[in-house]
Amino acid sequence: MSANCRKGEGGLARRAARFQDAPCSAPPCTAYHVARFPGAVAPSRHPFNSSRPRSTVAARSSTPGPGTYHPDARRTTQTQFEHSFGGRKVLRPVVETRCLLGRKAKCAQCGCEPTGDYWEHRGGTALCRPCMAGKQAAASDRREALALSQYKKVRSCWMVHRHEGTVAAIVLMDPRSLRRLQEKEAYFQQYFA
Ligand SMILES: [Zn+2]
Ligand SMILES: [Zn+2]
Repeated sequence: MSANCRKGEGGLARRAARFQDAPCSAPPCTAYHVARFPGAVAPSRHPFNSSRPRSTVAARSSTPGPGTYHPDARRTTQTQFEHSFGGRKVLRPVVETRCLLGRKAKCAQCGCEPTGDYWEHRGGTALCRPCMAGKQAAASDRREALALSQYKKVRSCWMVHRHEGTVAAIVLMDPRSLRRLQEKEAYFQQYFA
């Protein structure tokens, strides 16, 4: 029995050797043949072994890409709420839902049925998104731009409920999911406005 053992072991005072050599069965670092790794490879004539011209233009997509909004830019709009005296404030949806009772909206410009959201002028004239984009691009003076700003983005009720030829509605989306969707749209609208 060693002298250390006779000393005993206190609560926080262990007197055994602190570092002990652990037995190691792996070969040491110098045992590898580093000179042969990696093997000699002839340099390629073209990067990535391909002389094909690289594609620099992204495929056209209908959804906005990551570079189409500016998170560093100062926000020009705020989330809009409907206030009432003493009552709860309610989020104002960015895209209003129009209940058309199964009827189809029709674009006043091209006559097609709008896909997804579309633009509407005071509950009357409807414009699909491509036609509105064309009008906005062609707007030459301030008066035309002001007239286009009167249009509001709306969507038909196809996502919320289904009519199937009647005025009654089969609910497709519960109010909580609809509210969450509207909250998300209101948030992202701050960056896309
Ligand atoms: Zn409806
Ligand atoms: Zn159109």
